[in-house]
Amino acid sequence: MAPSIDPHALGKLPLHDLPTPEPESPRRPRKPYKFSTLCATVENPDMKDQYGSSSVPIYQTATFKGVSGEFDYSRSGNPTRSHLQHHIAKISSAAHAITVSSGMAALDIILRLLKPGDEVIAGDDLYGGTNRLLTYIRTHVGVVIHHVDTTDHASLLPYINAEKTAMVLLESPTNPLLKIADLATISQQVKERAPNAIIVVDNTMMSPYLQRPLEHGADIVYDSATKYLSGHHDLMAGVVTCNRDDIAQKLAFIVNSVGNALTPIDSFLLLRGIKTLALRMDRQQATTQMVADYLYLLGFKVHYPGLASHPGREVHNRIADGNGAVLSFETGNKELSEKIVGGTRLWGISVSFGCVNSLISMPCVMSHASIDPATRAARGLPEDLIRLCVGIEDPHDLLDDLERALVDAGAIALDVAQNRYVKVPAQDALSLAVNQLHLDGAAKKQEEWLVSAPGKVILFGEHAVVHGVTAIAASVDLRCYGLATLRNDRKLSIHLQDLDDFYYEWDVESLPWNAVTPIAPGEEHPEELDQRLVEALSEKALHEIKADQKAARGASLVFLYLYMILSKPQDYPTFSFTTRSSLPVGAGLGSSASYSACIATAALLVHRRITLPPLPQPTSAEHIHISHQGRRAITPATAEEVNRWSFVAEKILHGNPSGVDNSVAVFGGALAYARPGFGKKSGMEGIQGFKSLKFLLTNSKVPRDTKKLVAGVGEKKANEPELVNGILQSIQSISDEARRVLADPELPRDSLLSALSALMTENHQHLVTLGVSHPALETIRSKTAVPHGLSTKLTGAGGGGCAVTLIPDEFGEEQLQDLITALIREEFQPYLTSVGGSGLGILSPYAAHRTPGVPPAPQALDQVTPPDTPTPHEQIAGGAAPGADDLARDPLRAPFLAAPDAELAQWAGALGRWLYV
Ligand code: PLP
Repeated sequence: MAPSIDPHALGKLPLHDLPTPEPESPRRPRKPYKFSTLCATVENPDMKDQYGSSSVPIYQTATFKGVSGEFDYSRSGNPTRSHLQHHIAKISSAAHAITVSSGMAALDIILRLLKPGDEVIAGDDLYGGTNRLLTYIRTHVGVVIHHVDTTDHASLLPYINAEKTAMVLLESPTNPLLKIADLATISQQVKERAPNAIIVVDNTMMSPYLQRPLEHGADIVYDSATKYLSGHHDLMAGVVTCNRDDIAQKLAFIVNSVGNALTPIDSFLLLRGIKTLALRMDRQQATTQMVADYLYLLGFKVHYPGLASHPGREVHNRIADGNGAVLSFETGNKELSEKIVGGTRLWGISVSFGCVNSLISMPCVMSHASIDPATRAARGLPEDLIRLCVGIEDPHDLLDDLERALVDAGAIALDVAQNRYVKVPAQDALSLAVNQLHLDGAAKKQEEWLVSAPGKVILFGEHAVVHGVTAIAASVDLRCYGLATLRNDRKLSIHLQDLDDFYYEWDVESLPWNAVTPIAPGEEHPEELDQRLVEALSEKALHEIKADQKAARGASLVFLYLYMILSKPQDYPTFSFTTRSSLPVGAGLGSSASYSACIATAALLVHRRITLPPLPQPTSAEHIHISHQGRRAITPATAEEVNRWSFVAEKILHGNPSGVDNSVAVFGGALAYARPGFGKKSGMEGIQGFKSLKFLLTNSKVPRDTKKLVAGVGEKKANEPELVNGILQSIQSISDEARRVLADPELPRDSLLSALSALMTENHQHLVTLGVSHPALETIRSKTAVPHGLSTKLTGAGGGGCAVTLIPDEFGEEQLQDLITALIREEFQPYLTSVGGSGLGILSPYAAHRTPGVPPAPQALDQVTPPDTPTPHEQIAGGAAPGADDLARDPLRAPFLAAPDAELAQWAGALGRWLYV
């Protein structure tokens, strides 16, 4: 059979041939459609579908019946491919489009236009595969290749030869260094000197949306359609476009002879991908600009034409409509780059680009590994170069992920003076990483870890949150403290000072190890608790704890459950966990979540599943501290890990917690929370820019039954739906308004406070109507209102528990003392505190951070070693607290237990630097 050439690849198409709504007339000229409209509209007037199908069908057939039909054999022509080629020609300002099996296949058919002795002038920063193919034709076909720096159009001049120069091969921007070639000027100067030379441009980095080189004098443009044109990394394809009929004829002949035309199914997929090209590209390049700016401001050398510092920016702006979605940057060290690349989660380590998913790679070890190192060096391709190919994910998620990887690799650190991250000089970054390794080792020797986490208040939306309304919660500066002291006697113990000095200890071997399935680092805890472990612990480890010690039993269960599930097989470091709180326990202020955060942190530290950031070495060039006031010194990754396990602890204690309390305990600040499943955006969102506010928290000391209160509101809703739904709606507006004012940077402080006062009063009235107040809470309200004029609302479940009173900045010290005295006289317990402060804290283990002279100062980290001869703690029967002798062996434990309640926070603060989330 004699296959014919696909006529649809060769027939000249009118440019932008889509019929537009306005007919051409002298008064109203025909207005061509914009690019995104062209992309989305696949129409070929010459190939109407017989059934009017709205998507082009896949003609999955090798042959066509008949002798005089339009198609006979799919190697030569196929209707799906014809539609695709028509569409590509339309969006590329081209008369002809040919589609083949890959970008390299596209280059291959183009290079077959050459003959032995021909000369090619090519760029010196080309895609690795292009170089490989050029090298092949140099050795096997006898074509001469000159690699030149195409960023300087004059550098081509010495090689242009009217007789010999057959082809000029250009990329702009280049991949991965984003060098710019002036396609228009080069085309013009080549045409003037060697009119027969064919100008070929690889346009893969831009796609026809951002650059159409045929408009700048190129003869042939090709794209690896595997990239932006398809956009989903689910196919390989190459596209060649041109306006010259003679060239198109030759290329179509080669494709038909070789048989590398695109298959029907890939043609279909590519056609579908192209419909969203403009949409994807807009998002991808907007995010790329953000990433480029971010890295540039940190101090990295960034290659991206969207940056004012880019040397080719002016030329690029002239020939292209956008900057694309690939950038590269240098870190100064290959090893450091490898750490960064290996440290990201959202950015997938992969070659290629143009996909909706973001990718990270090191060209020298991946896409450009086919170029030998000496040539790479000669062409100025840095070995440490990282290439980022940006997808369509949320830009903030991408930046967060990148930042985390940079921090973890030690490439950036917080500069205290500027309170922002800055680049760490590469050699120091590596020593930070080494330091981190030392710390990992040294952490094994650390004997005591003191941790703390804040409680929370619900400022707005309690109860309503159960019914889908947004609640606003903030951290309160009353904290739970937990001290983990390593033991050498194979025993674990818990000491809960706030729960009647509860103390219990277990032989580690006596625990039900056959019932646990440990969860390895990096693995998530399943949604459901491990009931087998819960039951085994209840039966074998907690059975001696009396039934009336419910809270202590729960706390012990959490302690053992986390300890066991986080352990590594055959590696059971044992410890005592001692806890105290400056937070009233069981008063609705999140005491259990702050306990959960402390025990989760302690267990993770003891099992060495989290580490602290290394102590940066200040350099003479840049003075870098571990953090500003210790804030943000604990990395987001560590905080998330702690939060995940705190949530598990909360599940053990409460069955089905919302996750708000533990998130506030770990992250601090304030957050808005809405339960999932109410037809609106659910989940938690931090309130940025939350300003710390002064509050008086008053514990009514009336015990509550939270479950009963919640059920009562549910019942009321069932009986009086109109009333309750109206209230819920009003509370939603209160939360919305509160969130708005709390995050408004422009709002003057006094306006903020008066707005919050009014919202508190309103929210409280609604809670009264819902029937969850209590006479004691109303007494607190009236004591604060008259004569002080302050706004108070119940917080939490109500029916007792706590009330919160907003204290304006100008409220006098004496007046405050009067109020506190009046409340104490009524047998209430007031706490003056602030909300919106730090989350999880860990007392820095670094000697440099410890306060000298505070007795008894823990030893410097690098001097801490376990005692040579284990000194067994005595088994303490019957739940009694350890004696003075035991305490003397643990430097922090005795003073921790001895500090008076009112001075606990101050005592902890004076020990040294605290590192916070
Ligand atoms: N040109 C450039 C700039 C590329 O990046 C690539 C592939 O990465 C190609 C051409 C080759 O395309 P393909 O992989 O589709 O053969």
